[in-house]
Amino acid sequence: MLYLVGTPIGNMKDISARAVEVLGQADLIACEDTRRTGLLLKELGISGKLISYHEHNKASRGPVIIERLKEGLNVCLVSDAGMPSISDPGEDLVKLCIEAGIEVSAVPGPVAAITALVLSGLDTRYYHFEGFLPSEGKGRRARIEALRGIRETMVIYEAPHRLMKLISELKDAGFGECPAAFCRELTKKYEEVLRMTPAEAERYFTETPPKGEFVICLSPLSQEGGSGDGLISDEELDELIRKHLEEGRSTKEIASLLAPLTGRSKKELYSYIAKLH
Ligand code: SAM
Repeated sequence: MLYLVGTPIGNMKDISARAVEVLGQADLIACEDTRRTGLLLKELGISGKLISYHEHNKASRGPVIIERLKEGLNVCLVSDAGMPSISDPGEDLVKLCIEAGIEVSAVPGPVAAITALVLSGLDTRYYHFEGFLPSEGKGRRARIEALRGIRETMVIYEAPHRLMKLISELKDAGFGECPAAFCRELTKKYEEVLRMTPAEAERYFTETPPKGEFVICLSPLSQEGGSGDGLISDEELDELIRKHLEEGRSTKEIASLLAPLTGRSKKELYSYIAKLH
């Protein structure tokens, strides 16, 4: 049987009791980085047999692991952090197992995307997991353009050295005033959730250069069920205004935040909000 085992995304105490048990009983542990997983196992008091399985050897290593599984061994797959298969290797091995009729089970653990989403304060009912955008070029531009058509909260992984570039691209794509959350170092000592728009984040991170690991949660340009022209409905507008007022934002601030979502001018929106409270 293949077990997909979740490991902590920062805080070692997030390892589950079942993960410890299953890793302890495994005949073989496939991992991205044998040194890193070796350290984790040492901390857990487990002396497992490791085999490397990463982005660059997965094509050749996959069939080797399948052979071990066919021999009846219990194999665990772990990534450097979080759940295997989520912006990490795993998906291909699961497909190979399914083709070979080998059972797959999961020992769920933390996922950076979900941890960020629940902390974001944005809509969680529907969400789109984007993960990493291509690092540059046409592919990256195409994905940014695709995000404009997404109607759910978007969850993006980004390296700290590319965060300013991402913010600037999001602004250029029209997301400058969309509510967002920049979640860094989740579950770690310096965990921080900066709930601000990309325009505000650009100013913030110019003063405070981004450090550590980031997940960005971003509200869509427009909501499903909007007015039909890609803009939000009056009911949704009222709801958003109330939410921003409750969060203590000023009428002026709310007018600038919501103007791009409504097709109304900031001035018109200002008078509308003023009448609401
Ligand atoms: N498999 C992992 C998961 O389940 O979330 C994701 C691995 S992916 C290679 C690594 C990316 O996840 C980082 O670049 C960052 O965007 C995000 N990430 C992982 N740990 C994080 C943390 N503690 N705080 C914020 N983001 C994190």
